[in-house]
Amino acid sequence: MTVFTSPYPTVRPEQQHSGGVFDFTLTSANPHFRPEKVALVDALTGKQLTYGELAKESLRFADGLTRVAKLQRGQSVLLFSPNSILYPVFLFAGQAAGLVVSTANSSYLPDELAHAIHLADAGIVLASADALDVAQKACKEAKLPTDRVYVVPGADGKLPSPLPHGMKSYETLRGSDSFKPVVPSLEQAKKDLAYLPFSSGTTGKAKGVALSAHNITTCVLQTRSQGGLFSQVDTVLSVLPMYHIFGLVVMLHLTFYNGGTCVVLPKFDLVKALESVQKFKCTTALVVPPIALALAKHPIVDKFDLTSLRYILCGAAPLSADLEKALYDRLKGRTRVFQGLGMTETTSVAMLPPDNKGKPGYVGQLLSTMEARLVSPEGEDVPPGQAGELWLRGPNILLAYHKNKKATRETLTSDGWLMTGDVCERDDEGFYRVVERTKDLIKYKGFQVAPAEYARVLVEGVLLTCPLVADCAVIGVYSEEQATELPRAYIVPNPEHAKSPTLLKDVAAYVAEKLAPHKRLRGGVVVLEAIPKSPSGKILRKDLRVLAAQEKQGK
Ligand code: AMP
Repeated sequence: MTVFTSPYPTVRPEQQHSGGVFDFTLTSANPHFRPEKVALVDALTGKQLTYGELAKESLRFADGLTRVAKLQRGQSVLLFSPNSILYPVFLFAGQAAGLVVSTANSSYLPDELAHAIHLADAGIVLASADALDVAQKACKEAKLPTDRVYVVPGADGKLPSPLPHGMKSYETLRGSDSFKPVVPSLEQAKKDLAYLPFSSGTTGKAKGVALSAHNITTCVLQTRSQGGLFSQVDTVLSVLPMYHIFGLVVMLHLTFYNGGTCVVLPKFDLVKALESVQKFKCTTALVVPPIALALAKHPIVDKFDLTSLRYILCGAAPLSADLEKALYDRLKGRTRVFQGLGMTETTSVAMLPPDNKGKPGYVGQLLSTMEARLVSPEGEDVPPGQAGELWLRGPNILLAYHKNKKATRETLTSDGWLMTGDVCERDDEGFYRVVERTKDLIKYKGFQVAPAEYARVLVEGVLLTCPLVADCAVIGVYSEEQATELPRAYIVPNPEHAKSPTLLKDVAAYVAEKLAPHKRLRGGVVVLEAIPKSPSGKILRKDLRVLAAQEKQGK
């Protein structure tokens, strides 16, 4: 067996163990904790929370979650909200109360949210005031009473009055800051569920990714161990969604452990992001490829002073070497630009480049305290220099897919290797490059779109319920103009609709109505006579990808 190890110093989290996520970050157990320092700034309103306030507010809500909402240790709270400076308060409140915090995509539509509520076995939902209809429909479907929904402010910072459907204000959960946080033993921190974000993994519907407190705290230490870049006190442009693992762990937990400041925007808006960097003198921006594209190419960027930026880290989806170089040049070589590889299943980061060396197009070197293998489809290690599926092992690998033994068995080997579904090459300096994906996953701007069949929350499943469609398959097609993959549907129309002049538009609209915006068929709808399938009926996505490449070349 050829096992590659990390060039970065090993972390020994057992020796640094200081309980759960709350005490690790927001108490004097963290050597970087300074109560008076600003932890969070709302970039639009200027409202701030210091570390002392963040800790106190988290304890108040931890008190309310246990005393008012009557949640008991191990039960889960589901967050369904876009970014706000309150979001981390609920993350830490849940952790201080010994609860499981589950983070749902804030653009989910009712079926998708119901699936998340069901997967997380949510005891309560903290829902944004801007999406209460979705929350209400989802609760009905998931059979969670609507009085278990606590409403948090929407984009205007307000709550509707009166609150609809018997829902309650999040304020009713604010209790006493003398609440004593639950401090797990090392053994509990290692095995108990702390966070439950969602990922489709290598195939199919969203699954709950069971992460322990130890996964989170160790991943923070592993990332810091990369060198100077990630252990400094940064002011971080915080536009990544907090519910996604990149936002949750690198943007929030790493920054908070280091004692830095998150400058929070509810979502990406180029001008607001540029204004925020200039105004708050952000030293770091964490981005996904379409944001890197906007920063590299949009003319308005030149109107802003971005000289405070020390580095930009891109992740969640592939960034081309050309775009990486274009962004570096645009920022006049003052700002380091690089990408890392991460997954929800690795508690965020798995590869990062070192401080002193960048290689455009590569995702860096293996993170501290991890092991890697490159494996052929036959399960053998590939010869040196060849590409193989990346298998990873380390303290940041998920515990399991929550309540899904089958998916866990298919993804984690009995000796702890995570089969990532990413095909990588490793050069002789230990830098990795992602060359292909074996899993059925499309990444639209870093968001997961799982195509697979027969489920109401997946694109193909929805398409198959469309009266216009007899059969279908969905793949991702790459758009250089947008620096992202776009979901494209190949359909076989129902014969009676085959000649309809609005067929393609109607099919796209059908999906748009039923699924979250990132799953829309932005890559187009293409009519085929038959969907290519193997004798066992499996969709041959590779053949469709070849077809898409031929279409692109105008063949
Ligand atoms: P998620 O769990 O949503 O973060 O998705 C993880 C998947 O995103 C990985 O398994 C990769 O397929 C993809 N991914 C993340 N970062 C990169 C990157 N820098 N280059 C290529 N693919 C990436």
